[in-house]
Amino acid sequence: MQTTLADFLIGSDDAEEAKSIIEKCVHCGFCTATCPTYQLVGDELDGPRGRIYLMKQVLEGNELSQSTRKHLDRCLTCRNCESTCPSGVTYGRLVDIGRVIVDERLDTAGMRRPTKERLIRWALREGLTRPRLFGAAMRVGQIMRPALPEVVRRKIPVRQAVVPGGEVSTRKHERKMLLLEGCVQPTMSPNINLATARVLDKAGVELVVARKAGCCGAIRYHTGDHDGGLDDMRRNIDAWWPHVSNGVNTLVINASGCGAMVKEYAHLLRNDPAYAERARVISALAKDLSEVLPELMPVLTNGIQSTSTQEPVAYHPPCTLQHGQRLKGVVEPLLAAFGIEVRLCADSHLCCGSAGTYSVLQPEFSMRLRDDKLKKLTQTGAQTIATANIGCISHLQSGTMQPVVHWVELIDRVLANGNGAAKVLEDKAA
Ligand code: SF4
Ligand code: SF4
Repeated sequence: MQTTLADFLIGSDDAEEAKSIIEKCVHCGFCTATCPTYQLVGDELDGPRGRIYLMKQVLEGNELSQSTRKHLDRCLTCRNCESTCPSGVTYGRLVDIGRVIVDERLDTAGMRRPTKERLIRWALREGLTRPRLFGAAMRVGQIMRPALPEVVRRKIPVRQAVVPGGEVSTRKHERKMLLLEGCVQPTMSPNINLATARVLDKAGVELVVARKAGCCGAIRYHTGDHDGGLDDMRRNIDAWWPHVSNGVNTLVINASGCGAMVKEYAHLLRNDPAYAERARVISALAKDLSEVLPELMPVLTNGIQSTSTQEPVAYHPPCTLQHGQRLKGVVEPLLAAFGIEVRLCADSHLCCGSAGTYSVLQPEFSMRLRDDKLKKLTQTGAQTIATANIGCISHLQSGTMQPVVHWVELIDRVLANGNGAAKVLEDKAA
């Protein structure tokens, strides 16, 4: 789609990038069929092609209204449309840029978001990205849980028993990898990082956490606070760099939403002379856990029967894994090698409705997508649901009594008959 930037956007790197993305779109509409929000409402403006058209209007300086913002807000940023698009339109990047320009233009025109909406966005950015604050609030919520209304209670996970796999060991290994702990994961589901450490310990890998690292930046960046998100990324690069300089050559990420973000550091910081090169290196070192394990499988599966000996699981591949990171079909063979039968549900390419902060900001669409996903997962007949991202886990768990777990917890359980567990080492130096 030929696009002519409005005078006031000429010279803006983001606007130039958005223009070049839009110009790849040939308006074919293939993406519309796989867009979850289009499927919900059947409105072209709630599908990718319609949203791209809206963003073209915005970039060209045409008049815009609150309705433009509503349709962009309703997008999950699931990037399913990117997987479908034959022309390589990087829609996720486009909508990140488009939302900020729309907000700025509407602010200037006196159409700011309502106060309540701005407060919720601020609370999400400040609350979710501070692990201590979030942890304290969650613990209070867990204590109060029985007395809370059903709708709130379902959003607060029961406090998790941490170590099902045996004693914590402090085994040292020559081979070390960095682990991104995540900001909400250690509170909501502490067993995921511990299971990751235990599994990697069995393969002779020791995990190191840089304590000064924190949120990957996705929460701020994807809610329109680009400067705050970039600052989170720079802080993480500073925290990880001493380890990279010492020869650690893998950054393991077990939350696919965080992994998708860290892999974008290189692009997002490309124009920052102080961080561009280090961001490029960090993005190259970032690996989803499912990319790390294949090399270690001969050691891990030694003595394990790969014929189906475990309960079947219904696996939901998160959008940030299958569309964002383009890692499709990677987890299933790993589980199968441990004798776990994996069942994909119908329409497994579709979002579960979690989508980061979307479940709070767009609850109606989010719940409809969640319930539809749970219905299809249940139809597989498996009692346990597994996925690869803390957001999807907590969102799906809020709608079902069936256990929803991270897939590495299942491998950890199979291995639990072995030699106990490793702990995540604290970094003293960085
Ligand atoms: S990112 Fe997802 S919800 Fe948004 S337009 Fe693309 S397919 Fe639709
Ligand atoms: S599939 Fe790609 S090229 Fe076709 S309308 Fe969608 S974004 Fe544009």
